[in-house]
Amino acid sequence: SIVVTGATGHLGRLVVEQLLEKVPAGEVTAVVRDEAKAASFAARGVRIAVADYNTPESFDSLFAAGDKVLLISGNEFDKGRVQQHQVVIDAAKAAGVALLAYTSAPGPLKAALADDHRGTEQALRASGVPYTLLRNGWYNENYTENLGPVLEHNAVVQAAGDGRVSSAARADYAGAAVAVLTGEGHENATYELGGDEAWGFAEFAAELSRQTGKEIVYNAVSVEDLTGILAGAGVPGPVAAILAGVDASIEKGELVVTSGDLSRLTGRPTTPLADSIAVALKG
Ligand code: NDP
Repeated sequence: SIVVTGATGHLGRLVVEQLLEKVPAGEVTAVVRDEAKAASFAARGVRIAVADYNTPESFDSLFAAGDKVLLISGNEFDKGRVQQHQVVIDAAKAAGVALLAYTSAPGPLKAALADDHRGTEQALRASGVPYTLLRNGWYNENYTENLGPVLEHNAVVQAAGDGRVSSAARADYAGAAVAVLTGEGHENATYELGGDEAWGFAEFAAELSRQTGKEIVYNAVSVEDLTGILAGAGVPGPVAAILAGVDASIEKGELVVTSGDLSRLTGRPTTPLADSIAVALKG
């Protein structure tokens, strides 16, 4: 079976959808916390397993020998994600799965956000389970799904200077995961995944201006100022600092990906940022 954790998240849903284009639904298992959120998958014949990274017993006997598993990293920053992911790794090892793929972060990324991913990668390597590291670069949607404040103030406020980002759509990263789960020869491979074209925030603002007909500027601020702005907008302090820290990494070029691995795995060009902006503005 092909098993996907985090299957009711944004990325997980896209992975399951794309899997269903390639393999019979009965060969796909969606691991979810809330069965109700997976009703549409169940209706299409996808097997549903209920488990939580915080409850190791819930993963007992969930995997079978020979399974190919995608561990989608969790989003509970305060719950010890390495420990959570270790639960899945231990269960995969006990079952003797054929492959455990993990959605990690770009190798060069030094921001605090990457620490859990480096820790999980280490745990994977130590486990002896055949693994694939899908080092996902940034999503276009990180910048396009919350355009409200940008359109309100006609300003993109970031702390990344002239730094560039090789982002791609979530659907592109989902496609890479599906290629690995349904293909051969990905054991113990590390893929640096990112968009074909890197862009900077001045270009992002220019593209927004073009598509909206308004004059939208890039307002480059300091990391400290951005932390304060995010906190003022209701983002909890520690999270605000982590998010602003990503911009410092962007300025240093840590989110530029030049491997070409993403379009090579999916067999198609990655989705340009402009396309994701268009989707968001229509939405
Ligand atoms: P989402 O927040 O939409 O999905 C996170 C998924 O993890 C959800 O399905 C959620 O379950 C599941 N999950 C969280 N905690 C647990 C738990 N304790 N036990 C079981 N499942 C759990 O994120 P995305 O799908 O957009 O992205 C996937 C992951 O990629 C994120 O979780 C994060 O680690 C990382 N990420 C990457 C970004 C990038 O730009 N590369 C940007 C943002 C995040 P449920 O559906 O029940 O909530």
